[in-house]
This record gives sequence, structure tokens and C-alpha cells, in this order.
Amino acid sequence: IVAAFRERTPGSAAFAEQASDLFPSGITHDSRHQYPYGIYVTRAEGPRKWDVDGNAYIDFFGGHGSLLLGHRHPVVAAAVAEAATEGTHYGASHPREIAWGRAVQRLVPAAERLRFTSSGTEATLMAVRLARAFTGKTALLRFRGHFHGWHDHMAGGYSNHFDGTPTPGVLSGVAEQTVLLDANDLVGLRAALAARDDIAAAIIEPTGASFGQVPVEPSFLHALREETTRHGVLLIMDEVVTGFRVARGGAQAALGVTPDLMSFAKILAGGLPGGAVAGREDVLSLLDFGVTAKAGREKIAHQGTYNANPLSAAAGTAALEVIATTDANARANATAATLRQALNAVLAEERVPWAVYGTFSGFHLFMNPEGAVIDPLRFDPLAMPASALKNQPKDLAAKLRLALQIHGVDTNGRIGGVLSSTHGEAEVRGAAGALR
Ligand code: PMP
Repeated sequence: IVAAFRERTPGSAAFAEQASDLFPSGITHDSRHQYPYGIYVTRAEGPRKWDVDGNAYIDFFGGHGSLLLGHRHPVVAAAVAEAATEGTHYGASHPREIAWGRAVQRLVPAAERLRFTSSGTEATLMAVRLARAFTGKTALLRFRGHFHGWHDHMAGGYSNHFDGTPTPGVLSGVAEQTVLLDANDLVGLRAALAARDDIAAAIIEPTGASFGQVPVEPSFLHALREETTRHGVLLIMDEVVTGFRVARGGAQAALGVTPDLMSFAKILAGGLPGGAVAGREDVLSLLDFGVTAKAGREKIAHQGTYNANPLSAAAGTAALEVIATTDANARANATAATLRQALNAVLAEERVPWAVYGTFSGFHLFMNPEGAVIDPLRFDPLAMPASALKNQPKDLAAKLRLALQIHGVDTNGRIGGVLSSTHGEAEVRGAAGALR
């Protein structure tokens, strides 16, 4: 497989060689790490991208989830091109940020106030800081395996450290302020909330770890809302992946649970850099210059050179407008369901005891590390232990990813991904053929 991959990708190999003494591991994001090297891409359109050797890929990585509308959506691309002619940074407020904020509020009414950031990591960082300042409490309740960016307070977020221990370079005190629970464990949740009165907030990926790789039962999300309210703990929904994807109004709309605070990024900025923290007016008012005079509370500082950058604002506003006025979410969700079924049909026909599962516009591959007897067409991830879902055999997954790339399909490193509104029958057939 490695030899066939190398044969198809000499151009990528040459770039990887140049990058190897430039970047650690030759890459700029841990998720882009791949053996023997990753593909170098120079062009993308709709559901496809092309590497420097001219190989086409049906793309299920989807700009790390930022491209619900596919690559180079004409409306988004035109908005960015137009904005670029007017300057790229004004060091001042500008009309585009108002349009962008209104576009968010139109789809997510619980975003009573918002503050733009440059990334999802910055959005969860500010959400946690707001929660601590608002409640006067310090601890953070998190769920095992849930990813919220890479800042210090998400010390367990790196894939090696889902046990909550800090990654090298992070102060150990951060872990001491973290309560780590299993999602779907209502008994554990109740016990943790009863045992500690210093919990400021609970943060959760509302559809489950890694966009549902380890799913959260909707009933647990509802229970989490009730229990946090009862204990004066703020609920932060990390909608960085689910926001504007699973439904126009995100997971909170799809699942009917309203958080106190939320984080956005990815689709929010239409494939350009950008994030936002949003939520209750009384909490966000801690960023307000009037808060000191009005309520006798100290304002939380927040800067960020690229907050609400005009190009990101233009791309985001355009993307959210398309999402608000078309069936983009429903199309991506429906095609993903067809894809999951088609891939499972291949596994069943080829008698491979794996399964493809997922909700909304995502899919994940269960590679059955313990060799359980399963029927791909009837697989229920909620009946499996989280460890089985999360602990993919890494070498096998890496080989499969290369093999899929050789057959013109790119997935994320866990052999899963997301669909866009531009994926359709042809991409489902292509993916099924590649898997076979
Ligand atoms: N939260 C979730 C749920 C995410 O999936 C991600 C990114 N994959 C982040 C936060 C961090 O966002 P960013 O990469 O923009 O910092």
C-alpha cells in the first residue's frame, strides 16, 4: 500500500521532504499527520480536491468540518473576493461584523450577545473564563474524549490524554480544576455535582466526542441541562463542529437543549479563520465596559488582532445566508445517511465485521478492535463501550486511509468525516467503490 501511494504521489513526497526540516513532523496540525507523508493539495471545488500530482479525491475531511457548502462555494468565494478589494484589516469596527453577528443571531436565538474570536480554541477559552467569572467558581466539568481545542484549560484534549492528565507544558493545577466524567453516565454526573460545589461550568460536544464518534444520548444532554441548572453550573455547548451543520441552528436546535454559553468556529467563518463565544446577555456582559459601573464587577479583558476580520466576516455572512435560505443542512444529512448505508452494504457483502455509523452529516468507522460479532447494517454505537469506539487499531486505520487515498477518497485520520451539501450520489458511489 505504501509503495502504491508513493508511486501516485511523487509531487507530495517532494514537498513533504522540503517540509521535513521546516516544521515539526513536517506538518502544521496534528490531525494532518500521516505515514509516509500526507498529500499536498493545491485546488478544491465542491466535494473534491486535487493534489499536486493531479490526483482527485472525494473529500470527506471538509476543511476540518468548516465546509458545509463544499469547497469554493461561488457565493462565499465572491464575497471574499469582493471584501479583499476593500482592504483586509481596518483596526476599527466595520459594518461587516454587524451583518455577521446578525446572521448568527438569526439562526441561533440563544446567542443573545456574542464576541468574535479567531478560532474555536479561543472561543472555548473565553467561554470557560466567562463561566468562572460569572459564577465565582473555578472547576470545569468535562467529558472523556470530548475535544474543545488545545488551550491549557482543555489539558486533556490531546488524543494521548483523554484521562484528563495534562499534556507536557501544561500546569498540573489545571487538571486539579477538571472533573472528568463519561458522557451518558447520569449517576456519575449527579454524584459529581453533589460532591463538589466549586464547578463553574460543564462543557460538552453535544452530539458526542469527535462529532459523535462516541455518541451522546440526547436524553443525557437534556438531563445535563436540568442538573447544571439545578446546581448553578453554566452549560457550555461546544458547537464548533455541530454549529450551522447538524441543523441551521446547530445541535441546540436539532436536540432542543438551550445552553447558557456556546462556542462556534468552522462553518461560522465559511472556511476562513474565525470563531465566536456567544450566549446569555448577563454572562456576556462581563465583557462589557459598562459592567464595572453598573454591577460593580470587573470587566474581563479580551483582545485579538484578527477578531471579526473583514474577510472572515464576509465569508461567514455569505455562508450563513446560504444556510438560512437553502436546504444545505438537510441535503448533507440525507446524503450522509445514504453513504453510511452504502458503506455498510459493502462491509456486509465482503463479510468484514466492521460498521460505519454516525448522525447528521458525519460518519465514523468502527473497526471492531475486540473482534465482536456485529452486523454492519444493525450496528448500534450506543450499545458499545466508549473505549471500543475510540480505540481504533491505529496501524490498520493508517493503512486503510492510504488505501482509500489511492482509490481517490480522503477521510480524516480516524477513517470518518463529514459531508457537504455538494456531496451526492456520485460521491457515495465513489466512496463505496473505494472501500470495496
Ligand atoms: N471544539 C471542537 C468540538 C472542535 O472540533 C474543534 C476543532 N476540531 C475545536 C473546538 C477547536 O477549534 P479550532 O481548531 O478552530 O481552534
